[in-house]
Amino acid sequence: MNRRKNIENLREGYHIFKNTYLPQHKELFSKLYQQNQNPSVLVISCSDSRVEPSIIMQCSPGEIFVIRNVANIVPPYEKDGNYHGTSAALEFGVTALNIAHILILGHRKCGGIEKLMTTKYRNNNSMAFLEKWMSIFEDVKREVENDGISMSIEEKILLCEERGIVKSIQNLHTFPWIKERVMQQKLFIHGWLFDIATGEMLEYKADTNRFTAL
Ligand SMILES: [Zn+2]
Repeated sequence: MNRRKNIENLREGYHIFKNTYLPQHKELFSKLYQQNQNPSVLVISCSDSRVEPSIIMQCSPGEIFVIRNVANIVPPYEKDGNYHGTSAALEFGVTALNIAHILILGHRKCGGIEKLMTTKYRNNNSMAFLEKWMSIFEDVKREVENDGISMSIEEKILLCEERGIVKSIQNLHTFPWIKERVMQQKLFIHGWLFDIATGEMLEYKADTNRFTAL
């Protein structure tokens, strides 16, 4: 297990980056500085510290536009005047950067999904923001409870991790500027599920509604 890094370790890490990584990638960084960013893939990943999209998919700076939130959730399109961080980043990626692909990158052992599936009592405000956020998947939870009636809680969590990705894909289609681009085949949506323990990646196939090995 990695030792827990403190801020001094991050300070050291930055100096290693500046003195080693940066000189080794001088050309890349001067190109990135001179040009506007132009990634073709937008990734929606969990905030979980064990799931690092750039490392898992071997990307360099400038290659993927990443949105991270608890449980890699896409909320539905809502024009309610509230603050919508994920939707704002989606809007920028799709309408300003003209992203060609959106990838929902889910993962096993997701704490957000586990909390959703195991929290029985609501409104005690112990984690009010997190509970409200995860309630976007309230109907996913209900669906898993119904379909997995004979399953153990561990199996239900596994199923919910998959169904959550499908729900986020459905929610992406509620954004008019996403739906339009998907219909015009200018934008393609993908759902992957990463297993921290084995390194295995599953891919969602819409035609069969199943996840298969990538
Ligand atoms: Zn997670």
